[in-house]
Amino acid sequence: MSVTTPQDLLTDARIRLGARPETKEDAIREACQLLIASGCVAPEFTASVLEREKVANTFLGHGVSIPHSLGKDRDLILRDGIAVLQVPQGVEWNPGQTARLIVAIAAKSDSHIAILRRLTRLMQDDTRLSALFSTLNPSELASALRDDTASAATSPAVDLAQTLDWVLPYPAGLHARPASVWVEAARKSGVRLQVRHGNDTADPRNLVALLSLGLRQGDLLHLSADGEHARDALDRFRQLLDSLTLQERADAQRAAVQTVPTAGAWVPPGQPVAVPGIPASPGLAIGVLHVLAKSHAEIPDLPVPLDQGADQLNNALIATDQQLAALADDTARRLGEAEARIFKAQRELLKDSDLITLACQIMVEGHGVGWSWNSAIDRMACKLAALGNPVLAGRATDLRDVGRRVLMLLEPTLQLGSLQDLPDAPCILVSDDLSPSDTAAIDMTRVVGLAIAQGGPTSHTAILARTLGLPAMVGAGPALQALRSGTQGVIDGVGGKLYLDPSEADLASARSWMTSEAARRDAQKAERSQAARLLDGHVVAIGANVNLPSQVPMAIDEGAEGVGLMRTEFLFLERGETPDEAAQFAIYRDMIKALGNRPLIVRALDIGGDKQVAHLHLPQEANPFLGVRGARLLLRRADLLEPQLRALYRAAKLGADLSIMFPMITSVDEVLTLRAVCERIRAELDAPQVPLGIMIEVPAAALQADVLAAHVDFFSIGTNDLTQYTLAMDRQNPELAPQTDSLHPAVLRLIRATVEGAARHGRWVGVCGGMAGDPFGAALLTGLGVNELSMTPRDIPAVKARLRASALTELQQLATHALAAESAQAVRALNGEAA
Ligand code: PEP
Ligand code: MG
Repeated sequence: MSVTTPQDLLTDARIRLGARPETKEDAIREACQLLIASGCVAPEFTASVLEREKVANTFLGHGVSIPHSLGKDRDLILRDGIAVLQVPQGVEWNPGQTARLIVAIAAKSDSHIAILRRLTRLMQDDTRLSALFSTLNPSELASALRDDTASAATSPAVDLAQTLDWVLPYPAGLHARPASVWVEAARKSGVRLQVRHGNDTADPRNLVALLSLGLRQGDLLHLSADGEHARDALDRFRQLLDSLTLQERADAQRAAVQTVPTAGAWVPPGQPVAVPGIPASPGLAIGVLHVLAKSHAEIPDLPVPLDQGADQLNNALIATDQQLAALADDTARRLGEAEARIFKAQRELLKDSDLITLACQIMVEGHGVGWSWNSAIDRMACKLAALGNPVLAGRATDLRDVGRRVLMLLEPTLQLGSLQDLPDAPCILVSDDLSPSDTAAIDMTRVVGLAIAQGGPTSHTAILARTLGLPAMVGAGPALQALRSGTQGVIDGVGGKLYLDPSEADLASARSWMTSEAARRDAQKAERSQAARLLDGHVVAIGANVNLPSQVPMAIDEGAEGVGLMRTEFLFLERGETPDEAAQFAIYRDMIKALGNRPLIVRALDIGGDKQVAHLHLPQEANPFLGVRGARLLLRRADLLEPQLRALYRAAKLGADLSIMFPMITSVDEVLTLRAVCERIRAELDAPQVPLGIMIEVPAAALQADVLAAHVDFFSIGTNDLTQYTLAMDRQNPELAPQTDSLHPAVLRLIRATVEGAARHGRWVGVCGGMAGDPFGAALLTGLGVNELSMTPRDIPAVKARLRASALTELQQLATHALAAESAQAVRALNGEAA
């Protein structure tokens, strides 16, 4: 084994004096170049160091900074080395922090720790450090950093009269927080205390001295004391040290949980107070909080003659319908058809006969029209919300939203608008619940982020925020109620946190995160049309999840190579009627046309579960997710299955690269029956054979993948359902959202079983669930052996970029570690690992 000596670590060639970088980034690039030129690191190392700056502050203090790469990029380090850039004029590292010695570290092992320790010592010696900032002699710098033994040699450490040995049990080593407790205790002890580690000693009344020992968990310390009652004082000191252990362990565990599930989230250097929530729309934004008061407007109850009241209500309903039509139209043009559908659905609520009847009944009882309408809305919304079904609770929000619009027409004097008085400065809206129409109408020049107490990530407000590109968190609970308008905040939609009163350093760090994030997105966009070719040439096919022909050009523009999942149930959900064979054929034909020669995988109807189609009048089920859904329904309803298959085989005759797949398969029998129906229809139409695949969404199918693979042409894993069925967690329950994690090792093991089962029969495996669209998830899936990934078009550039930066062997190794991990958090830690 070769040992890196301090001389090898820092050669004179890696010291540059008198550098004049204009920015921190220039400084990092220049320092990294010294490491690259001397063969210590690969050229990509610089990007990793810049990335790391986004998540950690590497400014050590006293004009010294120590940039280094992300832990996950250790492979970029070819051998340990250090480079030093001396910047006599200084360069701003963070606002208010000027770096004059930039010590870039490339370290796979801990051989650089000696140099770090030397640095911390130098930081206690301002005179010597200042001399190093301007020295013209590189050897002076080199020996100052390498020479760790000189002082020890001249003053061998001696313990005080009373001694005891103690092994440091703190997982994060001796960092500032526990060390400051040591200092306080030492000062109060009334005796002289000393801490020795090897040949290094520190007076525990001095924080910097303690920290510069560089103590890590497991280090053996020799504690000693002298003076009257030294023994007692020493024992008490040790007790205090022990008493901190529990807290330190808990903190370390919490830190792992906090940083891990949200790899890529911004980590504020100053640890400001944070209100946690559920991440709903990614991004970071700085703004003043604008807290929306709950509107408790008193509705006047002024009865009018019934016929007059009925007319007023009718007119208000018609006018609201027109407003919503205009809003849907505007939203479609600005944000897309999918988002506009939210308001089309709201228009349907206006026609609800139960609602209108109830409002009329209340009027008949002798109440005013506005009051009656409001009571009807209130009663129906409460009923929906009380059912405990998150989807219906979401509709309750829509109902109140529509109700408010009508009420404003009935009682124009009421001030019900919640977004009237936004401040001029960029603001973060803090609200109990924000209606979809308020969200769609948000003034994007003023609002930079959302923090919402209620709702889950699938609420319409969350969907709209994502489309608008507005960082948002939801489900933050009552903690938001206590916040005041005007407080400065940072909203983190990746980590799901609202940080309060950030320091200048936090703000600077947030700004630099935002800048680098924007640069990263731009770079990804530029490369999105290239294949997801890994560093070693392995290629992963990338598809889009798209339901309508009109969405195809946008998907191709984002880099899609085809459509990996067309969810056909939306054709039913949107129309309010069952599209017949001709209507379906027209859509599949248009899809094929829009795609050119690109592949199209159409999923047969997946109705049931969360996709309830009212006009089919299917029986109510106590547990619809465990009921007659997907293939189970198709096998019972030839009137749904056969027209769809006929339309698909007719489309296949157009010569397209078309595949058909079936959802929610649990058994070979289902596959054989469905195949037989396909074959009969194909033969009737004299259509070509098309690949027939199944979705792997149920643990039973994953575990029997080797058997199922004999009867199908491909698998596509639906990780959304596979996760909910594996973990027994409703995918729509916002309460469980943080734990309903596709990266759970149990889910990964089922994916591995699917890949292995498919391989037995030479079948390919795709993934079309949400995990495919998460860059880290995509990396893991590739490592697990998945051949194709299909996702929301917007996710494609980031996924491609992640894959293009990796080698297959590296991802296979990652997958092996993930499969062996204990928890989803531990899996995520493989991504967020620090250097
Ligand atoms: C899935 O379950 O992962 C999937 C892609 O299907 P859906 O989300 O439509 O149920
Ligand atoms: Mg599914």
